[in-house]
Amino acid sequence: MAPIYDNDVLTGYVKIARDMTQQKQAEEALAISEERNRVALQSANMGAWDWNIVDDVVQWNDQHFQLVGLSPGNQSLDSAFFAKFVHPEDMEMVMGELAKAVVGGLFQMDAFRIVQADATIRWMSGYGRVVESVDGVAKRMVGVMYDITDRIAAEKGLRDKQIQLEISQRAARVGVWGFDLVNMKGIATPELLELTGYLDPGDEWRLDIFLEMVHADDRQYVHRAVRKAAADHSGIELEFRMEHPEKGIQWMLMRGQFIPPYDTVNASLMGSLIDITDRRIFEEQKDAFIGIASHELRTPITSIKAYAEILEEMFAEAGDLNSSGLMHKLDGQVDRLTELIHALLDTTSIVNGKMKLFPTKFDVNQLIYEVADSMSAASSHQFEIQVSDEAFVFADRARIRQVLTNLIGNAVKYSPKSDKVIIDAVTKDNQVIVCVKDFGIGIDEEIQSMIFDRFYRSSDAQASTFSGLGLGLFISSSIVLNHEGTMSVTSVKGEGSTFCFTLPQLT
Ligand code: ADP
Repeated sequence: MAPIYDNDVLTGYVKIARDMTQQKQAEEALAISEERNRVALQSANMGAWDWNIVDDVVQWNDQHFQLVGLSPGNQSLDSAFFAKFVHPEDMEMVMGELAKAVVGGLFQMDAFRIVQADATIRWMSGYGRVVESVDGVAKRMVGVMYDITDRIAAEKGLRDKQIQLEISQRAARVGVWGFDLVNMKGIATPELLELTGYLDPGDEWRLDIFLEMVHADDRQYVHRAVRKAAADHSGIELEFRMEHPEKGIQWMLMRGQFIPPYDTVNASLMGSLIDITDRRIFEEQKDAFIGIASHELRTPITSIKAYAEILEEMFAEAGDLNSSGLMHKLDGQVDRLTELIHALLDTTSIVNGKMKLFPTKFDVNQLIYEVADSMSAASSHQFEIQVSDEAFVFADRARIRQVLTNLIGNAVKYSPKSDKVIIDAVTKDNQVIVCVKDFGIGIDEEIQSMIFDRFYRSSDAQASTFSGLGLGLFISSSIVLNHEGTMSVTSVKGEGSTFCFTLPQLT
């Protein structure tokens, strides 16, 4: 309030009133905003700096002191003090960026090293901007600095792993591929391009170009497997031939897995490819050898059998029953040898896809009785047969007899401590299902899928006195498969096994 005089006479008062509410509110808002910033910086463990460029005075918050390994303080510092903590190798870069920022207004350094007070080296990221300038000359700059050591370590770990993976893929000569199931395009490693001779890598690897390089006879098969894995969300494992532009036909083993979509990424298939040409050549040579050797053995063995039969008869006629008995045993062993040779010959024709079938119409139930009858004479086991109606099929009777003989033979062989084998047959959904159940040694779950492989014998079978070549189930399952049927096993170790196969029913 101020008095007003007119010629020294007080004529009135002027009252000036200022409303302080707004200013107060603004101050409070500023305080709140500063507090908020402080909390944010603290919780993110961010160092904040404020650099008065004109006077070269620097202020740090508590976290900034901690980031360089000092206890928090509130003294004023200068830029040289900060420089003391910058790693010598990064000094030029950091100072250069700061000098540029003074002119350009923005400081940004993704990664540089700080040597803390106790000589520990930590990685930092820094960001700052000019907040005050006069006539284009920067006066003040503020910014933040934060520790990224853990992120750098993780990235380095990831990079190291990536390098190790690439080295091991190269050493093992494994190509890796992957493609998106919407666009049928994706990635391939250099090893894969080299293995296949894929010439136009560009940026992407395309399924259609890859399929073009697959041998014409195998292309359908590979394409079908890919489509099936995509549709069933399953895996792939297949061997096929590829036409390498320089090396010619190469055998490949391809393995892959369906990867479900995630975020914005489409579903894909991803996997590996290895060259198995040497293994295939070796296998072909081995099969050829087995084929020739077993074929050559057949003639002398047929002669031995004929001589044994003649001698058995001659001894019997001469009344030398002892010798004729021995000859009978010899004949039996020759039969066993013939069976083994036939098994070997069978495998070569299966592998070459040359198994010939001579199908006729017959009742599986009747065949079961027949086989069980012929085997029961030489076996101490009881065969319990459970069949109901007739079960007609159109199949190669001799081959199905071979399957039954193998399954019942195994059931007896692998259940030395029990005396019962159950054979049953049912018809369901136009299929005849035949099962042979024993109460013997059983099969470990992990190896149940392998016992149908050629030459596979479990360590139990190898270690003990069970004889065999590991061919029976391979041949039997191939026979069933060739009849559009399936073969499976369920087994509990120590309790017994049940082998089942199906054949299309003739209705
Ligand atoms: P082999 O009997 O000549 O070894 P197979 O192909 O008939 O060959 O059988 C492969 C393997 O499967 C056998 O070595 C054995 O380990 C296992 N196996 C087959 N049948 C049975 C069974 N009924 N019980 C237990 N193990 C079996």
